[in-house]
Amino acid sequence: MADADAAKVEKGTARLQVAAARQEESGQGVARMPRSAFQALGITEGDFVEIEGKRITAAVAVLGYPEDEALAVVRLDGLQRANAGTSSGEHVTIRRAETKAATRVVFAPAQREMRLQGPTEALKRVFFEKPLTAGDLVATHGQQPVQNVPPEVRRMFNAPAYALTQIRLQVVTTVPKGVVHIDENTEVELRAEFEEPRDGRGVINYDDVGGMEETIKALREMVELPLRYPELFTRLGVDPPKGVLLHGPPGTGKTRLAQAVANESDAEFFTINGPEIMGSAYGESEKRLREVFEQAERAAPAIVFIDEIDSIAPKRGQVSGEAEKRLVAQLLTLMDGLQARSNLVVIAATNRPEAIDEALRRPGRFDREIIIGVPDEQGRREILGIHTRGMPLGEGVDLNELARSTHGFVGADIAALAREAAIEAVRRIMPRLDLDARTIPPEVLQDLQVEKSDFREALKR
Ligand code: ADP
Repeated sequence: MADADAAKVEKGTARLQVAAARQEESGQGVARMPRSAFQALGITEGDFVEIEGKRITAAVAVLGYPEDEALAVVRLDGLQRANAGTSSGEHVTIRRAETKAATRVVFAPAQREMRLQGPTEALKRVFFEKPLTAGDLVATHGQQPVQNVPPEVRRMFNAPAYALTQIRLQVVTTVPKGVVHIDENTEVELRAEFEEPRDGRGVINYDDVGGMEETIKALREMVELPLRYPELFTRLGVDPPKGVLLHGPPGTGKTRLAQAVANESDAEFFTINGPEIMGSAYGESEKRLREVFEQAERAAPAIVFIDEIDSIAPKRGQVSGEAEKRLVAQLLTLMDGLQARSNLVVIAATNRPEAIDEALRRPGRFDREIIIGVPDEQGRREILGIHTRGMPLGEGVDLNELARSTHGFVGADIAALAREAAIEAVRRIMPRLDLDARTIPPEVLQDLQVEKSDFREALKR
């Protein structure tokens, strides 16, 4: 049981149960722990600790919340959980970390679609004296020296632009190895191109899906548990679920949720896009479907995500095309052919659950369903928090009020709103920019904040 005594294991280490960091602290690289753990480790706030799950990462130790004091928990955000190779509910070993000053640290974008460019000075400032380990996924905050801004803005700048959102990077290498920190003499390099993270892990995790606490809980039970601990099911003599159907309106985060589950459960992620696969030539669609399933079985534990499944598996009685009928039949065969212990779960998404072939929803196929609805005010508040994370916000910006006034918005609408507001902010400072200059004057950058009026303008669109 998690009690204060359990925090003391062998001398100089603490064994704590992982819990999720509060959303607003996500990306800050701190580990919140109870006072008893600080005593066991002989450390004070601000010291660095090493966190060992299946991997090792480092963090800045901070005292836990008062309500956590009696529990032997360490709060970590999604990136830290990935870096330590652990997930909520598991145990990790914590030690005091000795960091060395790095002579060199190389960063690269951790998201495939991202291209980065710009002076590394600002990066150095962001990570100054923070503990880093090669392979870590880390997040920036505030203004970033990057070109990861919409083309529209980039054209306006015609110079290295500054993104207003959180950027995720991978620490590709450090010299020396182990836990290091950046100091004045560290040479920092930023690679422009995406670098496949160690173990192919993606960066999307549960911290990135808002308003879905209950849904995440349900999906973890259905998917993460069987992928992580298949022996639980074998032992009980029951078959783990093979297929889960997510249904809800477009833009509510179904795809993002599936990616988060894959990353948090350390599973490989394969996507099949319904409409895309339908467009293939005669016989090609079934072949591609088969190939993805084969690849996924080889890579297991894995999640196959089928987006817009209604387009590849419509009710057979209602379609005239032979191609559709064959594809539905192929999918049924593939689902039935999955070995109970193959460690593969298929998650499918649709916004028209009534339109898919009933045979797919029989036991042993997509026999679990989760409804992903339009978020309520609390959900919208969480999603706003996620998409303004790392944005310098003006004092007048009230996210609670924004959550109240965006009734009917789904996650994708809120993401677009935040993006538009940031573009508005950039537009405002445009007159102060010398478009021929390669860099933006620091005093202009200092004033680059997203204001209440920017959100108001964005809402009009
Ligand atoms: P769906 O698969 O339901 O159509 P997506 O997962 O593709 O929706 O969401 C599209 C985008 O909208 C995401 O990349 C994300 O930026 C944003 N988004 C949607 N739902 C959420 C959510 N619940 N929390 C955070 N962001 C969300």
